Amino acid sequence: MREKLPFSRSDVLEWMKTYPTPFYVYDEEEIRKCVQDLYRAFSWNPGFKECFAVKACPTPAILRLLRDLGCGTDCASIPELVMSERSGISGHSIMFSANEVRVEEYREALRVGAIINLDDVTQIGQLEKAGTIPDTICCRYNPGQFENTNGIMGHAYDSKFGMTYDQLKEAYRILKEKGVKHFGIHSMVASCSLDNNYYPSLARELFTLAVRFRDELGISVEFIDLSGGIGIPYRPGEQAIDIASIGEGVRKAYEEVVEANGMSLSIITEMGRYITGPYGYLVTSVIGEKHIYKDYVGVDATACNLMRPAIYGAYHNIRILGKEDEPCSIKVDVVGSLCENNDKFAVDRELPAVEYGDIAVIEDAGAHGHAMGYNYNGKLRSAELMMHADHSVTCIRRAQTMEDYFATLDIDTEFC
Ligand SMILES: *Cc1c(COP(=O)(O)O)cnc(C)c1O
Repeated sequence: MREKLPFSRSDVLEWMKTYPTPFYVYDEEEIRKCVQDLYRAFSWNPGFKECFAVKACPTPAILRLLRDLGCGTDCASIPELVMSERSGISGHSIMFSANEVRVEEYREALRVGAIINLDDVTQIGQLEKAGTIPDTICCRYNPGQFENTNGIMGHAYDSKFGMTYDQLKEAYRILKEKGVKHFGIHSMVASCSLDNNYYPSLARELFTLAVRFRDELGISVEFIDLSGGIGIPYRPGEQAIDIASIGEGVRKAYEEVVEANGMSLSIITEMGRYITGPYGYLVTSVIGEKHIYKDYVGVDATACNLMRPAIYGAYHNIRILGKEDEPCSIKVDVVGSLCENNDKFAVDRELPAVEYGDIAVIEDAGAHGHAMGYNYNGKLRSAELMMHADHSVTCIRRAQTMEDYFATLDIDTEFC
């Protein structure tokens, strides 16, 4: 949660003249600043690149903003590859990190020139079926045990991703034999980590592997992909990570392991949540109040707009515009209108007294928010807006219409 919202009730009332609630709004300036700080933290590493995890916020205006700041993307499907390419990101600026990949997906990844990140040694055969094995390739490592996981991905040995050490080594050996020249190592063993030591300790482990594989296999590991997993403070009292200190921690490991062994390599990150999470807001109107065995406040957004609370019990701070400084005098569940009882944005939340027409802002919704939207109960997905420095907004995705909802069927017959 942020200390203060970057927009006011009167800003939102102005936007609502054109865009009815619910809608998402992203803060362009803050996203820009976040990326600039990230690049500053890793400026000691000449090849550093953030490949934004498209799944976190798959909207072309966001991808273009990030592209202009030097970012690439991390993709896991053909539509994500196509969206990246059409947003001006292609070639080695794309990491294709997927598991259980179909041949046609590899074919598309090869077409756009993405760096392919193999999730399993058996994927080498799949990739060969799609075409030729490229000169540059990455493999995903699952260390099994890793001390800095926060358990959200489960223990690494419960995670479906990546290869064991022996499989990884075998994959590199085979790939070298097949003519691959440039190698990368990828690993993701935490999600939403608020530990400043997560990246540095993961980096140290992967740097050590790079040295070992050079010595034992004679391969050239030219990049390390630390993937995503850096968290944001959703709950009051949680401490934000310090990107400068994370960059320094990784630098220290780099000097002690990579440079000390006479090597150099580039660092890639694939953050999603950290880049857009805190800078996206779901704006919704209060449309009801109800008092039965518990007290409820109803809003016009539903879990179809933001499913994290419903599926993970995730916490999102909620502020009532214009009442930010009023004391919290009610304790309520904030609910949407789905015919499902998990459609709650908050449970037993203390809020200032609200009334019909108040505007509630659900914070930290900029990553894995709109992206996870769905259409249950015939709910249409909302618009996404980009807020500029002068607080004007541009629509970067219109709201779904009923025609969109019916687009995959012929409503007047039973056939398609
Ligand atoms: C989801 C994912 C990310 C981004 O994760 P965040 O928690 O949003 O930073 C990066 N890389 C891969 C391979 C992923 O699956």
